[in-house]
Amino acid sequence: MRLLLASNNAKKRAELVRILGRHGVLVVVPAEVGLAIDPVEDGMTFADNARKKALAFAAVTDLPVLADDSGLAVDALDGAPGVHSARFAGEPTDDARNRRLLLERMAGVPEGRRSARFVCALALARGDTVLAETSGACEGRILAAERGSGGFGYDPLFLDPGSGLTFAELDSSRKDALSHRGRALTHMVESLRRLGWIEGRAQ
Ligand code: IMP
Repeated sequence: MRLLLASNNAKKRAELVRILGRHGVLVVVPAEVGLAIDPVEDGMTFADNARKKALAFAAVTDLPVLADDSGLAVDALDGAPGVHSARFAGEPTDDARNRRLLLERMAGVPEGRRSARFVCALALARGDTVLAETSGACEGRILAAERGSGGFGYDPLFLDPGSGLTFAELDSSRKDALSHRGRALTHMVESLRRLGWIEGRAQ
């Protein structure tokens, strides 16, 4: 099957392509089908925004569309940056500036209060219908300084307690196995199977 990924974030798309590829799903990005739209992300939740993005792209293509809305929720910041993760430090999106602002806001927060989670909501739409919605989360801690050079966004500040490594230090297959996106995609692949769009078992 062919799916259009409703995302303009190249790093995020690379993760989605990598994981879906293992399940035999061929992914097309907007530029490949001549689409350049940037839907407004003004929803109150990740799920709202994922639905909005999926429906905005599905309105202008015959392909089934998969949208991801994701971000970081930090307990000591009452869930911020949350749905504003991409633009935490303002527009245009700048991962390094966002991380600097997060470090500023977390300055002085004691070790025991640095818990956070990444959250990912996925929506699959075709035409004017949302066909499936899934989500995934992963728990971690916010470090006081960056570590690692892989991944994107807040990865260098997000410590996976199980491995003691940040998401920017984990290799990509381990990030995919643990991450909010990997988990939400596992559920979405099940939905694609139920819809009869992919066959067989995960590899
Ligand atoms: P979206 O494109 O509006 O969903 O923005 C997602 C934002 O959340 C990104 O710009 C990153 O700042 C952050 N984010 C989402 N997923 C990840 C991840 O896997 N690692 C690091 N940051 C992430």
